[in-house]
Amino acid sequence: MKIGVPKEIKDHEYRVGLTPASVRELASHGHAVVVQSAAGAGIGYSDADYEHAGATILPDAEAVFEAAEMIVKVKEPQPAECRMLREGQVLFTYLHLAPDPEQAKLLMESGCTAIAYETVTDRAGRLPLLAPMSEIAGRMAIQVGAVALQKAGGGSGVLLGGVPGVLPGKVVVLGGGVVGANAARMATGLGADVTIADRSVPRLTELDSLYGPRLKTVYATAEATDHLVTDADLVIGAVLVPGAAAPKLVRREQLARMRPGSVLVDVSIDQGGCFETSHATTHSNPTYIVDGVVHYCVANMPGGVARSSTHALNNATLPFAVALADKGWRKALTDDPHLRDGLNVHKGLITYAAVAEALGIPF
Ligand code: NAD
Repeated sequence: MKIGVPKEIKDHEYRVGLTPASVRELASHGHAVVVQSAAGAGIGYSDADYEHAGATILPDAEAVFEAAEMIVKVKEPQPAECRMLREGQVLFTYLHLAPDPEQAKLLMESGCTAIAYETVTDRAGRLPLLAPMSEIAGRMAIQVGAVALQKAGGGSGVLLGGVPGVLPGKVVVLGGGVVGANAARMATGLGADVTIADRSVPRLTELDSLYGPRLKTVYATAEATDHLVTDADLVIGAVLVPGAAAPKLVRREQLARMRPGSVLVDVSIDQGGCFETSHATTHSNPTYIVDGVVHYCVANMPGGVARSSTHALNNATLPFAVALADKGWRKALTDDPHLRDGLNVHKGLITYAAVAEALGIPF
């Protein structure tokens, strides 16, 4: 199969659909890969790196879309990209179609077969192509929180790990899923005093057996959350109620009872945020202060570490890309019901019930 990798065109998006290592893997299966010139430049991969891995470099996106039977990307296609797709062509990327009727319409009009990373499942019903970005955001949350605690950013001047004779900082993680567990892992690794709160007792039990006494676990009643948050140096918001806006776990009046310069990192901001005072920020201007408390609310945290994110994403997507290329989309989806869960658009139809429902399209 001929596989195409265009350069991402969303603002400040440096990730790329396939790394040179992934290209090499696909080439070793007998597939031809065409890559747009400078597609990997933002994360240190030159055209020569791709050529060395077996790719052919094409000058622009038009040439890549024209040549390829399957397009592998990272972000949802922008209108100009949608217009280059055609019937019979496969698109494999994040789509997030439910809140995006314009993209849905353009993809339907193109006639292409679009498989969305975010709805591919695994045996346990989890979302394996979404998980790597949650892992990244969770780990990053502690890094950015530690920096925000420094005086220069308005922080209280607490060092999370402490030093001999000085107590470590108190980190509270709200939500013990993929983001929360990864944040807890980083915070315990730094030597901070870490508590994780969740509404799922089985999940707390799992975390307890994973981390032992280095991690305190608490059932997240409103009272327990209030007590933890108002005594914390750094609070990570990492809750998710699937399909719903994030619940507001911290109200504005609670900020006044926190120590000045404490930090809130709202990873759940892409679902509306779990702190009442959160609003989405960007990597170029990531923090702001409300009532003396520093807020970090970047909605696309993994974009800040685009090189690591690209590798983590490729690790998860490559086996599926290889299956699609080796077998063709029809057999690959027939053989693997989890990959079939990724099918969102085919020949002008929305093929994923929740997306159709959200867009008000008959299914
Ligand atoms: P997850 O489903 O693995 O975990 C969510 C956890 O929240 C679950 O354990 C659940 O029991 C818990 N929870 C739900 N309601 C709660 C409540 N009221 N109190 C305490 N715990 C509660 O989800 P995840 O993959 O960890 O993702 C968490 C959030 O991070 C999502 O909104 C996701 O979209 C977001 N995210 C953001 C970025 C970013 O760049 N900002 C990147 C990746 C993920």
